[in-house]
Amino acid sequence: MPSISTVTVLGTGVLGSQIAFQAAFHGFPVTAYDVSDDALAAARTRFDGLAARYQADPVVGASAEQTAAALERLTLTTDLAAAAADADLVIEAVPESLDVKRSVYSELAASAPERTIFATNSSTLLPSDLKEYTGRPDRFLALHYANEVWRYNTAEVMGTAETDPAVFEAVVDFASRSGMVPIEIKKEKAGYLLNSLLVPFLNAAAGLLVGGYAEPEMIDKTWRIATGSPSGPFQIYDVIGLTTPYNIAAANPDPGSQAFAAYLKENYIDKGKLGVATGEGFYRY
Ligand code: NAD
Repeated sequence: MPSISTVTVLGTGVLGSQIAFQAAFHGFPVTAYDVSDDALAAARTRFDGLAARYQADPVVGASAEQTAAALERLTLTTDLAAAAADADLVIEAVPESLDVKRSVYSELAASAPERTIFATNSSTLLPSDLKEYTGRPDRFLALHYANEVWRYNTAEVMGTAETDPAVFEAVVDFASRSGMVPIEIKKEKAGYLLNSLLVPFLNAAAGLLVGGYAEPEMIDKTWRIATGSPSGPFQIYDVIGLTTPYNIAAANPDPGSQAFAAYLKENYIDKGKLGVATGEGFYRY
């Protein structure tokens, strides 16, 4: 199995900054790459914010010394070739655009050492959509994190038919050693395991609401009591934030999706009630 001790993260936005910080917190030297000095300045602010979150989170309970050590292990750069030069693993978290990702992989393929494993954090693209641009389809796979990686610490590992099983195993091992719970997926599936379960569940809840069958509180209560689950679907919507579900529903021509988009827009989006992050969504926080 290839050994992974140095990590590079491409893109230092919402997820990239979390992935980089999480690996650094667990002892890996991490190089974080982004396209401009402004993006790197934003990344420094994100890392400081994450240090505070790791200290404040009751489950992680990090000490100031631990987060300071994590920050010490992070190096930031706008030079892609330098970022990749010593990487055992490159995790790509650049914007969710096929064109952007393909061009990043083409450039990366030309500069990374042969041994380097590439992993995409893409939520909606399959690794097969990108593999031919990596120059190493046998050393390429998806490693998919959930937002707030330190709390919702699943790491879905999903290769293509060409991914070397030893590479898959190395990435599973890296996920464990960086504080994640590796979720091994045997073959490619859009939505991985989590969204393959969650999206139909949330859509069904939206259908009950806009169909006029019940209010969110009643739907959530049913789910909580009858299954023992701590949260119902509308509580989950609030955690996700209502902007993303709104955008997805608005883009879907299906009448049920359009009705849900209109409902969200009128009652929540236009009123700035975007979920937990803004203090109110389906519920008040
Ligand atoms: P984001 O927009 O917050 O961050 C993207 C970052 O990439 C920015 O810092 C941007 O400056 C940088 N960037 C732009 N072009 C680049 C390039 N050519 N090379 C390197 N960096 C570049 O996006 P995000 O929400 O962090 O999403 C990144 C990836 O993670 C996407 O593939 C997304 O599907 C996936 N993802 C996101 C979430 C989420 O909840 N946000 C969850 C799981 C997976």
